[in-house]
Amino acid sequence: MHDVIVVGLGPVGATLANLLAAEGFSVLALDRDAAMFDKPRAIAIDHEALRILQAVGVAQRLEDRLGAYKPSEYHAADGSLLRSILPAPPPWPLAWPSYASFIQPELDAELRAALAARPTATVRLDAEVVALAQHADHAALTLRSGEEVRARWVLACDGGASTLRRLLGASVEDMAFDEPWIVIDTLLERDVPLPPTNVQYCDPARPATFINGPGRLRRWEFSVAPGENLAEMAREENIWRLLSRWVKPGDVSLWRIAPYRFHAVVAEDWRHGRVLLAGDAAHQTPPFMGQGLNQGLRDAANLAWKLAWVLRGQASEALLDSYTEERRPNVRQVIALTKELGLIIGERDPARAADRNARMQAEVAAGRGHVVRQDLLPPLTGGCLHTSPGAGAPGPQPWLADGQRMDDALGRGFRLLLRDALPVPPAPALYLRTATLAELRERDGVLAAWLARHAAVAVLLRPDGTVFGTTADEAGLAPLLSAAEAALR
Ligand SMILES: Cc1cc2nc3c(=O)[nH]c(=O)nc-3n(C[C@H](O)[C@H](O)[C@H](O)COP(=O)(O)OP(=O)(O)OC[C@H]3O[C@@H](n4cnc5c(N)ncnc54)[C@H](O)[C@@H]3O)c2cc1C
Repeated sequence: MHDVIVVGLGPVGATLANLLAAEGFSVLALDRDAAMFDKPRAIAIDHEALRILQAVGVAQRLEDRLGAYKPSEYHAADGSLLRSILPAPPPWPLAWPSYASFIQPELDAELRAALAARPTATVRLDAEVVALAQHADHAALTLRSGEEVRARWVLACDGGASTLRRLLGASVEDMAFDEPWIVIDTLLERDVPLPPTNVQYCDPARPATFINGPGRLRRWEFSVAPGENLAEMAREENIWRLLSRWVKPGDVSLWRIAPYRFHAVVAEDWRHGRVLLAGDAAHQTPPFMGQGLNQGLRDAANLAWKLAWVLRGQASEALLDSYTEERRPNVRQVIALTKELGLIIGERDPARAADRNARMQAEVAAGRGHVVRQDLLPPLTGGCLHTSPGAGAPGPQPWLADGQRMDDALGRGFRLLLRDALPVPPAPALYLRTATLAELRERDGVLAAWLARHAAVAVLLRPDGTVFGTTADEAGLAPLLSAAEAALR
């Protein structure tokens, strides 16, 4: 029997399998398909996701291939600026670019290569799960071949049409967004003048998106109007017609033409006994914030440390309930915001579009038209968290003077980072690592600035890098550490 079976080797399942196998657990990773999907879907990755991939050595392997993420400008049909969403500037709080573009098949291939090298991981492709049974101490999965495989825990990372979600009878909240779009990935073949930024064309005649990918990748997305025939639109001559405002054949080559229905859905409960949902199996969002995969990777990090602590007997199973408690409302907020942006971009009524333009142009004129992307993402609340300032936010990860990132130097358990040397009360259940600013020798003052901003003398990070809590003075240290110990019981 395995410790864990991961169903689905998309980026979320492959990350979860890596995180758990890196801790020495026996992981069986299954995928229905015989080969990896070799076309891009996600194109933007943020610093939290890169930090998660750093933990399995994969972000470092992609680092040189990441593209600088351009601001996302919202343009009215006349080209005037309605809003600009900017990546946060350096110094980067998590030691990774706050936002970057990437080529998803490169990430998927690196994740699978890393997994193949882990001694406690077994990967099986062409292994579709068709049935599930749960027992007191394990879950059993039946493959299409009839074979049964068993594990103490099963992680359903089998994508938007999740078989496991269906087998569990898990209910899903529909957040009421259902729009057909067509996504066109191209490769630049010659130097052509294209927008220097990413652009959301808020044009009621044809809402559209342009994204600068890394290297030669350039993506367009077009809203499909009611009554338009999606299959007809996806024909090559019609694709060139859609692209004719920017490029013609020979300027770019077509890599992928993909009709999509953009959805906004969230599973109600992400834990069903011994089965936990993650990634698109748990939630799907329209792509306007570039957050589907990023949120899925946050699921993976959140779940992996909790499951590891439960499997090692260092925490009770109740800790796993905090997974839904923390992740679900957070993802809902991100999807609600994305939906809002989608409705701004996708407005097709000319009168309402004119009102929107007037409102947003006034915001730009008043200096409120530029927003930092990371500021839009809410912290976690509830669950395995304290209520002090900063709790639930991604904890800072400084670069250190010796050229390492903090997580690599300090390790990834519970970490107490102190402004000054203070006596640390015992907290045996946390297996705590501690470091002061003087011991860490950070390079850019990121951690010192974070502590000052939160009026904290210490911050306690969880194994997934999330802030458990902070304290403003020495007297608060013991209650902070006791609260963390209590959250594991
Ligand atoms: C146009 C578009 C643009 C996007 N842009 C972004 C972006 O910029 N940034 C971002 O963060 N996200 C983006 N996303 C979302 C992102 O692509 C997805 O959220 C992400 O790929 C989901 O990963 P996953 O591992 O959860 O699921 P998937 O990648 O769907 O993987 C699921 C895996 O499960 C396997 N499987 C399915 N059923 C079974 C079964 N019964 N047994 C065994 N295996 C099974 C499948 O073969 C597949 O390999 C975008 C999506 C779209 C469509």
